Amino acid sequence: MGKEGAVGRAHASGRCRLSKIGATRRPPPARVRVAVRLRPFVDGTAGASDPPCVRGMDSCSLEIANWRNHQETLKYQFDAFYGERSTQQDIYAGSVQPILRHLLEGQNASVLAYGPTGAGKTHTMLGSPEQPGVIPRALMDLLQLTREEGAEGRPWALSVTMSYLEIYQEKVLDLLDPASGDLVIREDCRGTILIPGLTQKPITSFADFERHFLPASRNRTVGATRLNQRSSRSHAVLLVKVDQRERLAPFRQREGKLYLIDLAGSEDNRRTGNKGLRLKESGAINTSLFVLGKVVDALNQGLPRVPYRDSKLTRLLQDSLGGSAHSILIANIAPERRFYLDTVSALNFAARSKEVINRPFTNESLQPYVLGPVKLSQKELLGPPEAKRARGPEEEEIGSPEPMAAPASASQKLSPLQKLSSMDPAMLERLLSLDRLLASQGSQGAPLLSTPKRERMVLMKTVEEKDLEIERLKTKQKELEAKMLAQKAEEKENHCPTMLRPLSHRTVTGAKPLKKAVVMPLQLIQEQAASPNAEIHILKNKGRKRKLESLDALEPEEKAEDCWELQISPELLAHGRQKILDLLNEGSARDLRSLQRIGPKKAQLIVGWRELHGPFSQVEDLERVEGITGKQMESFLKANILGLAAGQRCGPS
Ligand code: ADP
Ligand code: MG
Repeated sequence: MGKEGAVGRAHASGRCRLSKIGATRRPPPARVRVAVRLRPFVDGTAGASDPPCVRGMDSCSLEIANWRNHQETLKYQFDAFYGERSTQQDIYAGSVQPILRHLLEGQNASVLAYGPTGAGKTHTMLGSPEQPGVIPRALMDLLQLTREEGAEGRPWALSVTMSYLEIYQEKVLDLLDPASGDLVIREDCRGTILIPGLTQKPITSFADFERHFLPASRNRTVGATRLNQRSSRSHAVLLVKVDQRERLAPFRQREGKLYLIDLAGSEDNRRTGNKGLRLKESGAINTSLFVLGKVVDALNQGLPRVPYRDSKLTRLLQDSLGGSAHSILIANIAPERRFYLDTVSALNFAARSKEVINRPFTNESLQPYVLGPVKLSQKELLGPPEAKRARGPEEEEIGSPEPMAAPASASQKLSPLQKLSSMDPAMLERLLSLDRLLASQGSQGAPLLSTPKRERMVLMKTVEEKDLEIERLKTKQKELEAKMLAQKAEEKENHCPTMLRPLSHRTVTGAKPLKKAVVMPLQLIQEQAASPNAEIHILKNKGRKRKLESLDALEPEEKAEDCWELQISPELLAHGRQKILDLLNEGSARDLRSLQRIGPKKAQLIVGWRELHGPFSQVEDLERVEGITGKQMESFLKANILGLAAGQRCGPS
């Protein structure tokens, strides 16, 4: 037995010198090969009532129903596809065995099982005594290989060691020495990744391996039972190292590492939060799994930066994933419909390419079940008006005799997914986003998609009510803004500033408020409304009859149909004028630019005029400034007088 720290340090200096020689000839990073394995139905659910939602097409591709549009099928392409009838030997011989020989060439390799909990990761990696998986098969072959290659008389002496660790919530835990705490990951000057303090057990036979591995696995299983979903949320990492030493000069050394990893479940933990995960945990995405996706993407797209350092798992795999390493990711998927969303997300993670095919997934499985009951549930969910709108051209087909003939009893057996798969995609999207929203708000209740229909309808109704409320408030605000804008526009044509002409409703609602012009009048209205001695009154003109109302009693909703006039007290207007005059005489160019209709050029002209001719005696003197016409002066006055007057009288300016 040894500790990696000692071994790592002993070799480090020699390796560092070697690395400089070949530093310029770096091979391009290797792609991560991706295989998909579809497991068979395991709980006896297969049959006419539960056809699979995914099926293989050939040795590299599969197809799955498109939940966004049931008239389409999604086709995914991989390096290899293993169907539900594939054996453990098929996977091993097809995707794992070929990379083992590279370990004896001093290269690294990794095999990762990816997929949602229950899709077959552990079965693929570990298997059972009757159906041993990748780990026992690889160990057997590797030990056999090293025995042969390291036999007396051969040029290299070989030794094999194993380490077994777990990454849980970004902590690295030694399963062969559970008492040791979180371990650190280091990189030596040659780029080799080390975990100082990690237990390494020498193994010469499969019995040796089992002796160390089985109790360590039990350690993990005990933990899993105690901590409920821990095993599905942690990465189990088995590291097998093959060390080679040349028996004769120049006594070279080689090291090849093989990582065999049963990854954490890829299901969205927020979505499965109803299965007893604590609130705090359910919000946390598995960082390592998330970053692994980014690393695989970066490697496979040949991006210049691969974010290995962003998580413990990828940091650990930095020298064994990409680069000169040989890596294979086996994405495990399940055929049952309840796995559908997790399957799609696993496929998206793993796919080399995705293609949308313009035809329904299958007429025998999805379609008949979709039709009758779904139409009903969609209508029920949407209510009569929406249901009418949701009825698209494809419902012509839906109404055809064959689907309608689907027996009522079959509809009762539908899984939630079957109902959802036929729902209006927009509605489904909305449900999902609501689902996510609830999860992000820490809702401890069942997620929306798994709530009963009645509760779902109540939630939908609440959301709709909120939407209506927001719409109503927006309209209210728009009306107020438009009213004040229109009033300014009317001022232009009015020679008497104290009385503004009535505005028609069309003008009010049709005016598109300018951002600049909106703020002041709104503030004004709010401030005025708060002031009992308001000096601005809005005259409501119902038909030909006029009625005076204080702003306190303003109810814009009702008044949308009416015409409006503004009446401003002469005293207030005089104050406004005085304020403008003060600004014209004392304000800097920057101050002047804060006024409506005064840009940087006009501000400069005003300041220049003031320096030449002294202070303005009245606002109308602006007309005398070169470049400002009488009309511009008037419009400037109207645009600013109300705002400045109100600022002075009704609140802090
Ligand atoms: P995971 O590790 O992804 O959570 P498991 O490997 O525990 O999933 O598989 C869940 C169940 O399905 C187990 O009972 C397992 O034996 C079974 N299973 C998985 N894959 C297969 C397969 N290819 N053939 C037969 N049974 C399988
Ligand atoms: Mg498992």
